[in-house]
Amino acid sequence: MKKLILATNNRHKAVEIQIILGNQFEIITLKEAGIEIDIPEPHETLQENAFEKSSTIYRMTGIDCFAEDTGLLVDALNGAPGVYSARYAGEQKNDQDNIKKLLQDLEGETNRSAHFKTIVSLIIDGENHFFEGICKGNIAQQPTGINGFGYDPVFIPEGSNHSFAEISLQEKSSMSHRKKAIEKMAAFLRSL
Ligand code: IMP
Repeated sequence: MKKLILATNNRHKAVEIQIILGNQFEIITLKEAGIEIDIPEPHETLQENAFEKSSTIYRMTGIDCFAEDTGLLVDALNGAPGVYSARYAGEQKNDQDNIKKLLQDLEGETNRSAHFKTIVSLIIDGENHFFEGICKGNIAQQPTGINGFGYDPVFIPEGSNHSFAEISLQEKSSMSHRKKAIEKMAAFLRSL
């Protein structure tokens, strides 16, 4: 079975990715690999940040690995917060603060359309491959739900009346941006 390191310290992302991949591959978390590192995300694109994470771990281990970077792009804010989603309200990178700022910035705005975009960088045999996943939806007027993480309480996926934080992890993982990008990666790995 293909063995891959998942280059993230984000517990929520790791759980979602495990749900999406099931037991198709042997996924090793950074913790399981005994790697303690806070990989910076200094770049201006999701691609560069995803590659920064995967290439850092590949250099350290020589083991095939993948990482992802995700942003929330809001139409009425010209694509903000985008690549700056984690520190939208400041370097404290706090989910509640980010949601508060987002709702303030959208106050009185009727166009609530937005999408999440995930870019996966997979390094296999030293070569990088990118995969993209998009999930369209709308920004709610108020946060609802307690599941998930990040902007989940204010993101209502297209075709639903419930925020990502109101539905189960399994349900989110059947339609999310992350699901779409990771599925593409899995199809590529199966084709090798
Ligand atoms: P990063 O990919 O870890 O840099 O995440 C960027 C920002 O988007 C952080 O504030 C995350 O909490 C948020 N984020 C990433 N993925 C999701 C998601 O699936 N749902 C809600 N927020 C997310």
